[in-house]
This record gives sequence, structure tokens and C-alpha cells, in this order.
Amino acid sequence: MTAFWTEADFDDHELVQVVRDAKSGLTAIIALHSTHLGPGAGGTRFWHYADASDAMRDALRLSRGMSYKNAMAGLPMGGGKAVILANQDKAKTPEMLAAFADAVDALGGKYVTAEDVGISEADMAAVAERTQFVSGLPVEGDDAAGGDPGPFTALGIFLGIKAAVKHKLGKDSVEGVHVAIQGTGSVGGGVARLLAKDGAKLTLSDIHMDRAEALATEIGAETAAPDAIMSIACDVFSPNALGAVLDDEGIARLDCQIVAGGANNQLRRAEHGPMLAKRGILYAPDYVINAGGIISVTLEYLCRNDKAPCDINEVRKRIALIPGRLEQIWQESDSSGASPDQVADRMAQELIGR
Ligand code: NAD
Repeated sequence: MTAFWTEADFDDHELVQVVRDAKSGLTAIIALHSTHLGPGAGGTRFWHYADASDAMRDALRLSRGMSYKNAMAGLPMGGGKAVILANQDKAKTPEMLAAFADAVDALGGKYVTAEDVGISEADMAAVAERTQFVSGLPVEGDDAAGGDPGPFTALGIFLGIKAAVKHKLGKDSVEGVHVAIQGTGSVGGGVARLLAKDGAKLTLSDIHMDRAEALATEIGAETAAPDAIMSIACDVFSPNALGAVLDDEGIARLDCQIVAGGANNQLRRAEHGPMLAKRGILYAPDYVINAGGIISVTLEYLCRNDKAPCDINEVRKRIALIPGRLEQIWQESDSSGASPDQVADRMAQELIGR
């Protein structure tokens, strides 16, 4: 058996804990990559993995990603992530969530959890009954930090796309700029609406085409089939669905000048960042451009603990810093010859003392 700490994705994680609770049937992994800047913050994923090493790999990669994302967003939080290994039927019981909450609580605040794929706000509210180390809980009113992170993530991506358009195309506005959007869910839908308001030309796609078509009718956009969206001739390709779409084949298909979207882990492997750069395509590193949601839920958590202002203007102020961070990355990339993802990784590593 190969020990996980000899695997490529193990990056001197501070703590990797396997949680087993025979009574409820819970098997989970909590991975804390770095607490250099603060408690490891990152959501819990509920997923049916092919095998245990798949789950371990996901936890290791995602928690490192959260270290980078939180550091680059200027948040006083480190990186952590949890995965709950679902069975084939994806059965999730209150007892499992309770056992998971107790494991989070036992870490005494070193790890702060939230929702991720497969975990709802209601699940997190249940976890919050047994531990205070939770963010992403429902908030009251429209002017408080927290709640659904999607719209905040979308706002950051919209601002990031505008910055990319300025940097690469020299345009101050997105009016008439053609953006192809893959995925029209919470994030992609929000990005599309903001871009439409500013006069961008949009092509939308989703595996649920009825969703893309309804939005296209609402905002006046074109649609394209899921297998066509990556090869559309456009200015910006915006991935807002799945990760790992930027692989050999995906990059070869692109007919755009910019890739900027919210999906996590867009580059399949490390070499795909330089590959994009070699094709002359400007890339907005995913964990920098998609930090709007984590900014909001983190401020909600810090506010509950009297460590940050609670109001939404503080969230907006911090999201407004995303374009400047991207510009800094692109400028350094232009002058050093390193690709933007490499520059961002290096900056993040410095921030977390690695
Ligand atoms: P969502 O489930 O609301 O939307 C995803 C959409 O993508 C769905 O409409 C789905 O049908 C579509 N989709 C799935 N596979 C597709 C494919 N192959 N081609 C086209 N469309 C496809 O999820 P979301 O919250 O909008 O998140 C989108 C992405 O952004 C994810 O990768 C997520 O990890 C990332 N992200 C989300 C947030 C957030 O605040 N929600 C924050 C950071 C990153």
C-alpha cells in the first residue's frame, strides 16, 4: 500500500484526519493544508468516490486550493477541506452529519467548515447545532455578509473578466465583447446577467440546455450545445461548470483570447497553465477570480465572532480588490515569462510561508 503522504498531492499538509463512526456509517476525511494565516477554512464535499484514494486525493488537493484561495483573497484564514465518502445511493443521515460535526468540533476551531458539492445550507445548519466552527449559514436581510455565496462569486468573476478584457484587448468596457459561458447555474448565470447589463455579446451553454435557453431568452443571448461551447470563436471563454476542462484537448479547441471563469481547478495538470500561455491566451487563475463567495462566507463567520464588520459593503469592498490582484499577476507574468497560474501559485505560497 502506498502511504498518502508519498503521493504527489500531499503538500506537507498540517493534518489529515480520517473520521470513522461505525454507528452512523460515517467515513470522512478532514484535511488541513495550512493554518499559517488562520484557521483552515473550506467546505465539506459529500460525494461517492470510486475508491478511498480518490477521496484522499480530492481532500488533499481541495484543501491546498483553499490555502491559496484564502491567502490571495487577503483573508485571515488558512486552507482546509472535508470530504464525506458517500455510498452508492448517496444516503445522508442526520446521525452522519452529527458525527461529522463532532469531529469538526473536536479540532477546536483549527478547521472551519461550510457547504460544498452535495451539502446544503440545511445540512450546515444541522452541523452548526453541534459546533460553532461553521460558516455559510443563512443570514437575515439583504445587507449582511453571508448567505448564498453564488452571487458574490459571480460579481468577482464579472469584475475579473472586465480586468482581463482591459489587459488583453485594451478595452475599458465589455460592450460588444463576446463571452462564451459554460454552465449557467448559480455562478455562470450570475456572471451572464452582469455581463448582459453591460452590453456584452453572450453565448450560453449548459448540460441542462433548457436552463441555458431560458436565461438566453431573459437576457438576449445565443446558446450553443455543451460539446460546442469550448470551440466557439469568442473573446472570452468562461468556464463555470466543471473543473479540469483545460486539458490537452480542451485547450486545443479554444478559439478565444481570454479564459476567465469560476469553476474550481480548471487546469487539469500543472503543464496546462503554460500551455494556455503558449497559445497566447490570457488566463485568470481560478482561485483568484472566484474568491467572492469565500470572502462573503468568511466575513459572515468572522462577524459572528466579532472579528470583522458584518455589512455587505465590506464584502463588496474586498471583492473589488480581485481585479487589481489579477492585474498584478498578469503584469508579473508578462515581465517574468512565467504563466499566470505559476505566478499566482508562487504568490500564494509566499503568503502562507511556504
Ligand atoms: P451550479 O450547480 O449552480 O451550476 C453548475 C451548472 O453547470 C449547472 O447548471 C450544470 O447543469 C452545469 N454543467 C455541469 N456540467 C456541465 C457541462 N459539462 N457543460 C455545461 N454545463 C454543465 O454550481 P455553481 O455554484 O454555479 O458552481 C459552478 C462552478 O463554480 C463549480 O465548479 C464550483 O466549484 C465553482 N465555484 C462556485 C462557487 C460558488 O459560490 N457557488 C465559488 C467558487 C467556485
